[in-house]
Amino acid sequence: MDKREAEIELNAVLDTLVDGVVIINAIGTMRMFNPACVTIFGYEPEEVIGENVKMLMPEPFHGEHDGYLKSYSDTAEKKIIGIGREVQGRRKDGSVFPMDLAVGETLLNGEPIFVGIIRDITKRVEGQNKYDQLQEEHFHLSRVSAMNEMGSAIAHELNQPMAASINYLETIKLLLSRGGELDTGKLLEITSRAIEQTHRASEIIARMRGFIERGDVEKEPTSLKEIAETAIRLAFLSFNSQNIQIDMDVSEDLPLVFVNNIQIQQVLVNLIKNACEAMFDSQVKRLNILAALTTDKQHVEVQVRDTGHGLSEADIETLFVPFSSGKVDGMGVGLSISQSIVAHHDGQIWARQNKPNGSVFHFTLPIAERD
Ligand code: ADP
Repeated sequence: MDKREAEIELNAVLDTLVDGVVIINAIGTMRMFNPACVTIFGYEPEEVIGENVKMLMPEPFHGEHDGYLKSYSDTAEKKIIGIGREVQGRRKDGSVFPMDLAVGETLLNGEPIFVGIIRDITKRVEGQNKYDQLQEEHFHLSRVSAMNEMGSAIAHELNQPMAASINYLETIKLLLSRGGELDTGKLLEITSRAIEQTHRASEIIARMRGFIERGDVEKEPTSLKEIAETAIRLAFLSFNSQNIQIDMDVSEDLPLVFVNNIQIQQVLVNLIKNACEAMFDSQVKRLNILAALTTDKQHVEVQVRDTGHGLSEADIETLFVPFSSGKVDGMGVGLSISQSIVAHHDGQIWARQNKPNGSVFHFTLPIAERD
């Protein structure tokens, strides 16, 4: 291949590369800017060739780049060359975006040149942020709902130290009212116990306050299909979906539902996890999620069906009662939280046996007003 052919071939590669490629000389002047860079940065090659590459960088990189090049040519100390890292770029319209940058160095006619390979990672970073935020909201809301649902359970927890300290105080009163010789050692000990129990009660209250820092939840018209897809993904983050056949029958045409999507995701995540746990020993492991408009056309009914060990009549009675768990390590609050969430959405939740085996959990949600 002669030099001319090699050049044509190289240009063809650079033109079709998905990644941006920029070539600069030792003082940062751009000599090549491939078509992918046009897409990434919004400049045409003629607007940048001959200009300094720092025009593609926001501060502080913009101000520091000349210094980087100079210090590299003086000391050959490598900050980025041959390493590659995540940096920020600036588009023609001034917007700043995250990018992966890998830089290589070579010689052209005896002069050093630098080849930068650029990948716009906006989508990846946004996806990660959105996902982190979703997880965070999930955890928060599960605490809020747990709080709502477990109000009475916590009152019960509070009752115990309160009753104990009342007992101690009554004892002190009794001892004092008897008069005569006072056993101050004993009095001190009982007083300390009363103080200890009162501290316990105030700790419980402090914990409760921590739970409910973030106020009410908002509802909006939401696609049930999207909620279901996210819930499946989240449920299987902590559950191995191997060997479980998952079928989802939620039509795109279903009207939007008026819900807090995080809470309804949480209901579905609970139901999906329970279904998977119930299928642990089953030969056939099939999870089915269906949704359809109810006959009054005002609600959507969702069903989560499994082929697990199923439910007895007695189970069906107590399923939604807090702290009733059929599992060795179960808390027994998932379904009661789900029930309170569905009730806050003016819906209903119930369960029945599946045929020939397994369980079906149903719940209804209101559709968003249609205009
Ligand atoms: P936990 O999962 O912590 O026990 P839940 O309130 O979510 O709490 O569930 C309560 C109980 O209901 C479970 O322990 C289980 O015995 C029963 N259960 C829930 N879902 C199913 C299901 N799909 N199939 C059979 N039993 C179930």
